[in-house]
Amino acid sequence: MMGHTHALTGAIAWLGVAPTLAALPLLTESTRFIETGVMVNALTPAEFVAGALICSGAAMLPDLDHPSATIAQTFGPITWGLSKAIAWLSGGHRNATHSLLFAVGAGFGAHYLANTYPIGRDIMVVLLIGLALRAIGIGIPGKKFASAMVNIGLTVGLFAVFRSDNVGYAWLGLAVAIGCLAHVIGDCCTEKGCPVLWPMRQRWLLPWKIGIKTGRAFEQKFLAPVLSVVVLGLLYFRLAPL
Ligand SMILES: [Zn+2]
Repeated sequence: MMGHTHALTGAIAWLGVAPTLAALPLLTESTRFIETGVMVNALTPAEFVAGALICSGAAMLPDLDHPSATIAQTFGPITWGLSKAIAWLSGGHRNATHSLLFAVGAGFGAHYLANTYPIGRDIMVVLLIGLALRAIGIGIPGKKFASAMVNIGLTVGLFAVFRSDNVGYAWLGLAVAIGCLAHVIGDCCTEKGCPVLWPMRQRWLLPWKIGIKTGRAFEQKFLAPVLSVVVLGLLYFRLAPL
């Protein structure tokens, strides 16, 4: 699946399940439960939007095992080198990082970071938002440098808005895990499937070879626009005061 599609499914996953999951203890600061007027749950609207962006960025993480994937190309030689190392460590594309174990591990890692190192947490939040914006395709077509500037400006701006809105990141781990999981499920819908229960090698994929072929017309011309509409619909449905 393309980075763009993964980013959209990550946002959809968060918008779909977060309000329910975030009502669990420890995942949001409990006082918000009382304050929230818009939604009947523990996330503020700003947290809800921040989570969608972060989950969307996290939905790119499993493809760090592929040096030519969108994520590996995002921060130049740094992410490219990192992806080379991860590809080697995880046993090549669509292995360890495309599993339930990775999603849970990344989630717990992010949760630990969020609770222990505020600066590390902020760096992670900024990187994931930047990644999401890039994957969704925010920028100026054909202009790499200008697009990067637009992306950086928007990312910093959004981070500042979230901060001034007192967004708490107790749910960071949850968003990262859901994003990674959305990626794994997405790739299971492609013709190659994923080793969901890695280290068991068996690949999970759709029956009768109906899996999507990555980057073909169906994904670009049909799936991507449909997913975009679903993202907007869910945002409206969750945030518009009824
Ligand atoms: Zn993948």
